[in-house]
Amino acid sequence: MEKAFSKNLINIEPYVAGEQPRSADIIKLNANENPYPPSPEVHKAIAAFNADGLRLYPPMDAAPLRQAAADFYGLDRSCVFAGNGSDDVLAAAFRAFFNSDKPILYPDITYSFYPVWCELLKIPFRTIPVDEGFNVNVEDYYTDNGGVVLPNPNAPTTIGLGLDRIEELIKHNRESVVIIDEAYADFSGVSCVPLIKKYDNLVVTQTFSKSRALAGMRVAIALADPYLISYLDAVKDSYNSYPMDAVSICAGTAAMQDREYFEATCGKIVATRQRVTKRLRELGFILPDSSANFLFATHPDHTAREIFSYLRENGIYVRYFSKPRIDNHLRITVGTDEQMDKLLELLEKLINK
Ligand code: PMP
Repeated sequence: MEKAFSKNLINIEPYVAGEQPRSADIIKLNANENPYPPSPEVHKAIAAFNADGLRLYPPMDAAPLRQAAADFYGLDRSCVFAGNGSDDVLAAAFRAFFNSDKPILYPDITYSFYPVWCELLKIPFRTIPVDEGFNVNVEDYYTDNGGVVLPNPNAPTTIGLGLDRIEELIKHNRESVVIIDEAYADFSGVSCVPLIKKYDNLVVTQTFSKSRALAGMRVAIALADPYLISYLDAVKDSYNSYPMDAVSICAGTAAMQDREYFEATCGKIVATRQRVTKRLRELGFILPDSSANFLFATHPDHTAREIFSYLRENGIYVRYFSKPRIDNHLRITVGTDEQMDKLLELLEKLINK
């Protein structure tokens, strides 16, 4: 409804997240969440959390979490920023680093929050098409720009670039900040965190929502040269000095400190991913080798929309994007072996009908 003050209201098309059904009967493979619980250390830390302490503000700059991340990567704490999930961290990074009249660059098929932040923050952008096989060619980014943001591996395509390619991308963009969104990198074995010591224009963001099973807690970090981290802190302190609450800091720190559990669960997900990829191909699906905790698949005889509806009717939620170039693909999160067996069983029925 048009009101007298409507002209002053923001006109924006927001990001749309995957559905969040709460029924325990539904197999939820639509938001790339971890099928395994967080580390037992997280359970212990939350159980031991003393609510009396909540009368105080949380630790300044989420210091224990930043320290745990620094220890994990062998970095100084001044190289670490922390926030409420990578959506919070990326929004701060867009605000801090993309203050240019020149367009920032990112792939045409990628995380669909990027255009939303550009719109919200009035950042000009130009999308660079991925090729027919959904590959990112870093040479396409060797052009004047106001910044670059790239998920590695990319989403929803699941395709990852090697460290050498990422390094070329950074080297050819020394006059702007390059953000590598490593939301899924823990499932690929390729992280460009070691490059932050070499390139002061690189920012790596990582979330605890996927590989550390803390989507419900909202925890993420950014890693970069201290010079860039100081700009992220300046942005943070310009909208909320304490974006992370005390419980999230406590849980995130415990998750970061349990390397063994983290590696074991990532390993299990990768093993399931390889097995399911093979079986899906036997069923006629076409999908790239995934470097993430999800698959990006299409079938020559059944439309993605049809498979999406069929699975949904049978209690399995996957993600379908009604968007150019990818509207015949499904994004399927890798669940437990048991969940994936149910998925495969249903797909076998559909395809062998
Ligand atoms: N980056 C990418 C590429 C993602 O797919 C997601 C998950 N939607 C995020 C960032 C944000 O994750 P979160 O806010 O849960 O950390």
